[in-house]
Amino acid sequence: MKVLSVNAGSSTLKFQLFEMPEESVLIQGSFERIGEVGSFYTIRINGEKIKKEVDLKNHGVAFEILVNELIENNIVNSLEDIKAVGHRVVQGGSYFDKSVVITDDVIGKIDELKPLAPLHNPAAITGIKAAIEVFKDAVQVAVFDTAFHQTMPKYNYLYPVPYSWYEDYSVRKYGAHGTSHKYVSERLNNILGKTDTKLIICHIGSGCSITAIENGKCINTSMGLTPNAGLMMGTRCGDIDASIIPYISKKANMSLDMIDHVLNKESGLLAISTHNDSRDIEDGINNGEERCILAQKMFVRKVVDYIAKYYVELNGVDAIAFTAGIGENSIMTRKDIMEELKVLSVVMDEDKNNTRGKEVLITKPESKIACYVIPTNEELMIAKDTYNLV
Ligand code: ADP
Repeated sequence: MKVLSVNAGSSTLKFQLFEMPEESVLIQGSFERIGEVGSFYTIRINGEKIKKEVDLKNHGVAFEILVNELIENNIVNSLEDIKAVGHRVVQGGSYFDKSVVITDDVIGKIDELKPLAPLHNPAAITGIKAAIEVFKDAVQVAVFDTAFHQTMPKYNYLYPVPYSWYEDYSVRKYGAHGTSHKYVSERLNNILGKTDTKLIICHIGSGCSITAIENGKCINTSMGLTPNAGLMMGTRCGDIDASIIPYISKKANMSLDMIDHVLNKESGLLAISTHNDSRDIEDGINNGEERCILAQKMFVRKVVDYIAKYYVELNGVDAIAFTAGIGENSIMTRKDIMEELKVLSVVMDEDKNNTRGKEVLITKPESKIACYVIPTNEELMIAKDTYNLV
């Protein structure tokens, strides 16, 4: 069965078409600058990348072009061959603890949750509505980034703020990257050959989150009401003293919107090192640049702090996985983290750690906790959930 996995942004549309249950990728690509000047799309078929500049008025036009490309390249005979479309939705609030078949009620709830994901949920609705128009007979499924974290106990998802903020305004921890944490934890359970496991998944890319998972269920995660919580990230500050906000507002005469922008876009690794990409920071460290050394120390400290917290919360850990851009590729960052975990009897295998983007065990057999690199695959997770629902 052919299942289309879709990730719609306000001006982008990323897609992968899978043959399920074989999990093989038939085609993948993205439409960019939708509704803007200079719109184009790229498609990768059989290892070959095609880029075309076209006028993309809206997401519907993008889907129509995609269908034509699929037919021209003999990947499908007709649009009816695509039996299901899975959509990435960032915020499912407390409504959705798993992926669901999309109905009017589901769209209404995604819309209602807009205040919690003002950039992302409206874009998801645009993508969903366009897909319903084009793929009229396909089953449409919503896969939520927050759903995997819905198993957190209340004492972990509540903030110690007035209870009415939770009751009246839905202020609580929702987490993010749930589709990635789910995929990597399932993969790790497959490798370990059991499901009664205690796992810590470190999704560290430009956005970063760490999740504690017991028997396949999330019990805690580092992101919060929004994705600017927990770890230090490329440009986001993560956890800080909340009182910095009113203090800076008065001292620097900045509005709340300005401060929010700085904390999301001009903080994190960027603020300390002047780089938001860990490759540049590694170069800086190799050239002895102090601020890069400092940024890396701060970043690693925060990752290790969360691993330590979750180690205690889980009452021990079977395995730790590193995933996303930094987790999959930064040999230096993984090494720095594992050095700090020696106290938990983690014994790194330096040769095995010397790898990028491949699934591999990076600790020695005598290590008390097994550490793995597991490349994430959110698109496949969306396709799997969609296939299972159909
Ligand atoms: P997102 O999906 O959140 O945009 P990614 O998971 O793709 O982010 O991560 C992107 C980040 O991964 C980059 O900003 C960079 O810091 C890091 N990264 C990517 N490749 C490498 C590499 N070869 N070495 C070190 N870091 C890398």
